Amino acid sequence: MDFKEYIRVIPDFPQPGISFKDITTLLMNGEAYRKAIEELKTMVGDLKIDVIAGPEARGFVVGAPLAYALGVGFTPIRKSGKLPYETIEADYDLEYGKDKLAMHVDAVKEGQNVLIADDLLATGGTISTSVNLIRKLGGNVVGAAFLIELEDLKGRDKMPGVDVFTLMKYD
Ligand code: IMP
Repeated sequence: MDFKEYIRVIPDFPQPGISFKDITTLLMNGEAYRKAIEELKTMVGDLKIDVIAGPEARGFVVGAPLAYALGVGFTPIRKSGKLPYETIEADYDLEYGKDKLAMHVDAVKEGQNVLIADDLLATGGTISTSVNLIRKLGGNVVGAAFLIELEDLKGRDKMPGVDVFTLMKYD
């Protein structure tokens, strides 16, 4: 399946110069959404995974169904102030902004194998911060899976040692 057929590209959103890859058009198509998750499942099939961690909010729509398909747990990585229990936090830079990410202190146990999942890898700021949080909790990041990678932004270079799996690549 050519998954790119289901991605809507919006020029100059949310600001001039950004070419936004809108995944909602893929999510709206039941067959494409299911096949995308199945394909990611195949790509990470050889890894030993205990839990999938997905950053708010689009990481949930990739990470949760992938966790369900693999029969492993899912844990959310959220913006500061959203999680109800004790958290650890880290600052991060976005492609277009700044924020803080948080995880519950018991979201990942010492020695657990964690796969990170998100919709899109851009500069890698979100995911490298997620890697740092998971490692701080004692987790072992075994890989990171995305629907889309913006190759020119070289996000994967920000997380040496982490295997990156992507369904679609754009310049
Ligand atoms: P990074 O931290 O620069 O790698 O940016 C990745 C994060 O920003 C992901 O969580 C995406 O949801 C979001 N993002 C950045 N660019 C786009 C885009 O073109 N389409 C959809 N999401 C994007």
